[in-house]
Amino acid sequence: SQIMSRGLPKQKPIEGVKQVIVVASGKGGVGKSTTAVNLALALAANESSKAVGLLDADVYGPSIPKMMNLKGNPELSQSNLMQPLLNYGIACMSMGFLVEETAPLVWRGLMVMSAIEKLLRQVDWGQLDYLVVDMPPGTGDVQLSVSQNIPISGAVIVSTPQDIALMDAHRGAEMFRKVHVPVLGLVQNMSVFQCPKCKHKTHIFGADGARRLARTLDLDILGDIPLHLNIREASDTGQPIVFSQPESDEVSYIYKYVFKF
Ligand code: ADP
Repeated sequence: SQIMSRGLPKQKPIEGVKQVIVVASGKGGVGKSTTAVNLALALAANESSKAVGLLDADVYGPSIPKMMNLKGNPELSQSNLMQPLLNYGIACMSMGFLVEETAPLVWRGLMVMSAIEKLLRQVDWGQLDYLVVDMPPGTGDVQLSVSQNIPISGAVIVSTPQDIALMDAHRGAEMFRKVHVPVLGLVQNMSVFQCPKCKHKTHIFGADGARRLARTLDLDILGDIPLHLNIREASDTGQPIVFSQPESDEVSYIYKYVFKF
């Protein structure tokens, strides 16, 4: 099903892009980028005629280049727009393509905002059905202005079941609601670890935190993804699990939330 865009009048759409889905989290390290990458791949795989792009707006710690196994400088088109880099059928743009991998990114809020604006609008996205945006973690000015400046079809919020991550996820959901961005739901990540040898299950970050939060906020749980070595390895080697192990159990958890869109 289509999610309707509810842009405010002052919001300028991104040229050629039908629907923007942002993936957000309160805290860093909870699996936001992993979710964004696999969501983009799953959208492209599930609806094979759909064109999908992935924007790494996490300009402080761009991880999309590594996760999508992409490197290099975008070429400029005749109209001076940056050409996204392509892998696994996904058009990608990231600050990581424009700066050295280890260069410190020290800048102020306004600079971050203008960097994200460039990554969003000075890119030749072509025609996209979905642009998945990996947001910077947190709920500060940058997240707020992104949410206000582009028409966003929906936000996916990622959290571990840990209280401290949930508190921040709660704030994130409230922020989107304030600016009238529909929250599509929560993804609970790293909820359970099953020992590959003895099969014992451990809830390292707690069991049902995101489920509780979903009830409190009246949101859906879009996915409940275990903590699994394959997911981490797949991300780190630039072979995202939805692409590299589409039949695995871990992927079935990821696919689940795509069926909602
Ligand atoms: P964030 O974008 O929130 O900072 P990342 O997606 O970069 O988080 O994930 C942080 C680290 O955790 C990465 O090394 C990633 O591969 C790993 N990771 C994320 N989700 C899982 C999971 N479900 N199981 C195992 N490792 C995971």
